[in-house]
Amino acid sequence: MATKTSLKLTTPVEDLPGVGKKRGAALRAMGLPSVAHLIHLLPHRYEHEAAEAAISDLRANEVVTARGEVTATRVAGRPPKSRFEAVLMDETGRLDLVWFNGGYLRSRIHPGSRIRVQGKSRKFGGGLQVTNPTWEPLADEANTEPKRRRERLRPVYPGTEDISPRVLDIVIQGILDPAIELIEDHLPEAHRKERALPSLREAYRMAHRPESLDEAAQAQRRLAYDELLLLQLGLQMKRAYMERSVRAPALHWSKQIDAHIRARLPFELTMGQDAAVREIARDLQKEQPANRLIQGDVGSGKTVVALYAMLMAAADRMQGAMMAPTELLAEQHFLTLAEMLAGSNVRIDLLTGAKRGEERAETLSRIESGETDIVVGTHALLTETVRFKDLAVVVIDEQHRFGVHQRAVLRQKTANGESGGGADGRDRAPHVLVMTATPIPRTLAMTIFGDLDITTIRGMLPGRKPIATRVVEPSQREEVFEFVRTRIDQGDQAYVVLPAIESGGALRDVRTTAKHLEERALSGKRIAVMHGKLKGATRDQIMGRFRSGLIDALVATTVIEVGVDVPNATVMVIDQAERFGLAQLHQLRGRVGRGQRASVCVLIGDPSSPEAAGRLGAMAETADGFELAERDLQLRGHGEILGARQSGAPMFRAVELPKHLELLELARRDARAWIDRSPTLSNDSESLLRTRLWKAHGDALGLADVA
Ligand code: ADP
Ligand code: MG
Repeated sequence: MATKTSLKLTTPVEDLPGVGKKRGAALRAMGLPSVAHLIHLLPHRYEHEAAEAAISDLRANEVVTARGEVTATRVAGRPPKSRFEAVLMDETGRLDLVWFNGGYLRSRIHPGSRIRVQGKSRKFGGGLQVTNPTWEPLADEANTEPKRRRERLRPVYPGTEDISPRVLDIVIQGILDPAIELIEDHLPEAHRKERALPSLREAYRMAHRPESLDEAAQAQRRLAYDELLLLQLGLQMKRAYMERSVRAPALHWSKQIDAHIRARLPFELTMGQDAAVREIARDLQKEQPANRLIQGDVGSGKTVVALYAMLMAAADRMQGAMMAPTELLAEQHFLTLAEMLAGSNVRIDLLTGAKRGEERAETLSRIESGETDIVVGTHALLTETVRFKDLAVVVIDEQHRFGVHQRAVLRQKTANGESGGGADGRDRAPHVLVMTATPIPRTLAMTIFGDLDITTIRGMLPGRKPIATRVVEPSQREEVFEFVRTRIDQGDQAYVVLPAIESGGALRDVRTTAKHLEERALSGKRIAVMHGKLKGATRDQIMGRFRSGLIDALVATTVIEVGVDVPNATVMVIDQAERFGLAQLHQLRGRVGRGQRASVCVLIGDPSSPEAAGRLGAMAETADGFELAERDLQLRGHGEILGARQSGAPMFRAVELPKHLELLELARRDARAWIDRSPTLSNDSESLLRTRLWKAHGDALGLADVA
């Protein structure tokens, strides 16, 4: 067993007082194998614990804490109304305890049990009674009876079935003092002082044993700052590396070029598009590769903005490429752009997996010779051995599922592409624009895409009709489908979206619903199903038929979420809408409202939590994607946004968004200045910081190549 002097941060939990084999295994299962892990475990809240007092000193109408021996117990009344009563005695007096609905306690508290209780006291008979006290057995948790407790804030840790928050508290309190002595700070004192941040030792002491809630908040602020700073340092380091070692073609721009490009577009740009185009034009004129996120709500008109950028490349006799996430979308973009370019001398090509044989070979050779100015395709464009003559601009559409780490890898690939070293020894890289229809609050985007510049296209396109959104209860389902029928009778088309393809369980599914609609509400109408298990080619074919008006209602899963544009589809029904995230609901709704007729979105929902109800309510209240994104952040924090979890972006322990947005700004500024000063963090004084940065993000961000 580890004594205080031999304790190390690496000491295994099994060796700690009061832990042993069984608890050790449970702690390991929680991801807490050593002292360091325990110290890093942060409480998610604190509870006030009154000082322990002798029973005769307790007063009425206060939160009191006392210990003693249980001398009598009984269950009174019948379940479910039964209550459990006990008498607690110490050397000085008697305290009556009662737990309403406490029948379950009969097997846990017996005469002879030694327990500690806390709760509100009141006069009872001649003495005092505490109702529904919290309690804990003494001489059981850590095999030694704890000392009389003074007043404190008790940290409440995230426990599991096997390890209660209380056990974690006892174990951590037991090692805290010696463990804290071992912690080294990676931030210089001056840096901390300027930002009023406590030292790391103080921070961990205040997190686990705060004197006040203010101390707990100070601790969290320091630890959150560290997490944000490390991520930002990694991102900035990467960015600085790109700036040093990679060069993009500086494209030309002039009033004439601008006028020439605009003349190609079938409409005037909106103010939002115009602002975006200007920002992009400024970027593309630099040698530093652009790395910009263009976020615009569904239907804000991002495609022509992309075209503008690619035409700047074409105007310089270089190439542009646009990547879409699916073949269907690639084709759709290709058709749209080809139409706009008809009659010009700009050559556009399509490259997807569907193109094979000779046709493919010809396309590849046109791309390589430079005959093709603009290529539209899927991811295959980057991963395959596609050779460009002179690629200057890459546009990635709808990549809202990419997290920060994937982005970094992607950029690396682009940078080390075919063009090889330039005259100054720097690699040649294209400008990269990423377009997303998932609006992200700016500050959040900085966390996840910290290395990106951001352009936001705001405002509605001319002629767009707002979409009426209704939230209805499941009992109104048949009325909704009747409504769909009347709209189809008027020549409109509809989407019906469900959470599952086929489900035996609680989920509404595509198969059953399609069958039901065929037999009842939509009998005689042309119905098709669409979901992820269908082959890509089949899906494309169905989508094509829907677009041509050969299908009245498409019963589908969220596969239709991205990018599909069918102006005649004016009804979107989402069943079990409470199952979908806000971003997803908003995306789905954006599939309608694309034509001249007013569109309707009906959310059939049965929200089981306030959060789900909040989502549906928000959908009904606003159509502004940015507003929804902010609400989403408020409703559930940053966890799920952008699929941060799946994308491998680090989950934060201490950071809470949006609470820490200001801290995020601070960390970002600090990281930028730091990397400007010391691009690879190679000073001796930075070695601990560097080690921690590598540990947190080194692999994911590929920092080994950078410094
Ligand atoms: P998204 O941002 O969702 O990708 P799109 O680029 O697909 O939006 O544009 C949606 C529709 O609006 C398309 O049919 C497009 O031709 C049209 N559009 C785009 N910009 C304008 C504009 N400035 N004026 C009129 N229509 C526009
Ligand atoms: Mg689009």
